[in-house]
Amino acid sequence: MTASTITELAAALREGRTTPDALLADALAHLERADAELHAYLTVTRDLAQQQADAAARILRDQPATASPLCGIPMALKDVLCVDGIETTASSKILRGFKPPYTGTAVQRLFDAGAVCIGKTNCDEFAMGSSTENSAFGPVGNPWDVERVPGGSSGGSAATVAAGTVPYSLGSDTGGSIRQPAALSGVVGFKPTYGRVSRYGLIAFASSLDQIGPFTRTVEDCALVYSVIGGPDARDSTCDGRPMDDPLAELRDGVAGMRLGIPREYLGEGTEPGVRAAVEQAFAVLEGLGATLHEVSLPSTDVALSVYYVIAPAECSSNLARYDGVRFGQRVDRPSLTDMYLQTRDAGFGPEVKRRVMLGTYALSSGYYDAYYRQAQKVRTLVGQEFDAVFQQVDALVCPTSPSVAFPMGSRDDPLSMYMCDVVTLPANLAGVPGISVPCGFVDGLPVGLQVIAPRFQDSRVFRVAHAYEQATEWHTARPRFATDAA
Ligand code: GLN
Repeated sequence: MTASTITELAAALREGRTTPDALLADALAHLERADAELHAYLTVTRDLAQQQADAAARILRDQPATASPLCGIPMALKDVLCVDGIETTASSKILRGFKPPYTGTAVQRLFDAGAVCIGKTNCDEFAMGSSTENSAFGPVGNPWDVERVPGGSSGGSAATVAAGTVPYSLGSDTGGSIRQPAALSGVVGFKPTYGRVSRYGLIAFASSLDQIGPFTRTVEDCALVYSVIGGPDARDSTCDGRPMDDPLAELRDGVAGMRLGIPREYLGEGTEPGVRAAVEQAFAVLEGLGATLHEVSLPSTDVALSVYYVIAPAECSSNLARYDGVRFGQRVDRPSLTDMYLQTRDAGFGPEVKRRVMLGTYALSSGYYDAYYRQAQKVRTLVGQEFDAVFQQVDALVCPTSPSVAFPMGSRDDPLSMYMCDVVTLPANLAGVPGISVPCGFVDGLPVGLQVIAPRFQDSRVFRVAHAYEQATEWHTARPRFATDAA
């Protein structure tokens, strides 16, 4: 279990070498051992998991030929994804005790495929952060070095896959929160094209940027999970209505003859030398596989960070206005309604969330809207146009996922240094294009990620390039001690 992929476990289930029950028992036992050190989980959903494992066993017995490869396989969900009747907090005190009355679309599609959900994973509060240290319930350890962060905001979902508790999990990516923790934790993480996965049932942070996506151990598994969660949904009007292409169709086509672009600005001064060396070696591997490499330029990269930190807080200030103590979670009772609102929000939100709400409210206020929000929207359009122009020259982009490897907990207490973590991931969110991170090396025992970015709706191409690279290298087979210790 601890080293296996979805594909391997699906085969083992069909050949009768294991059962959904046995896989669940393994996952829960592993969780118990690992989580004392990692704190990747906020809630363990034993009862739900047992029901789902029982149902999966029946499906595998009665309809083995049509059962999804995900049937009977344990997984975990970032605690921003609503599951009917299961406490969902977004790692915020303000949502403690909130049990959603429905299950979101992406999650429901997994459940319909027979997935076995073992728990809700820890993350930065309302997905705001890059280290999972902004969780109101304490940080998550990186399985490669528990004194370091696993990245964020989906740190728990990344860590639990890296540690070997489950072969896959879901996270959400607004500015890098799937790809960056995937890189720092040594797993595969994918942000789909904006509008390919329904956001219905995802606790909103910044709605024009948020996408749900998978963490897995291989690119093939990643495409598989995406094929199940993706596609049109009448419950999310930003979800594209066109049917999905099969994300696995091009997987084995290789990169021979492909034109791959290296954005000059993505290997800037802030890139750690070890990260640069690992990524440059990865470029050489891709060249060896027959791709041609071309330096390209995305000139607005340096302002994209500023644009993101206007737009994301603006949208968050609006989305988080609903947490007022009336409808969800925690309330601080006060005789006056206004006092109740103020005290509830003061006690319920952590410092980073308050900072974003204030920044966003300021940027949207009548005196500053034109100077900040409207201006940011204009530059956002430019960022998208630059991607369009570059994709006239090349088929896909290859670059680092993060300028650094996993950093020690507590080492980035200044918000700006934390915001810098996303400089090479957030432009893809501004442009709505798909991106993946695959393991491409180590620096002093800490994983490095290679990012592959493709044009909108070319998600299959991302998988194709990443799979070709992965299959030519061994990095994705490395496991931290949590996964290799005798089970
Ligand atoms: N780290 C970025 C932020 O804090 C991105 C977070 C995310 O993708 N959810 O906003």
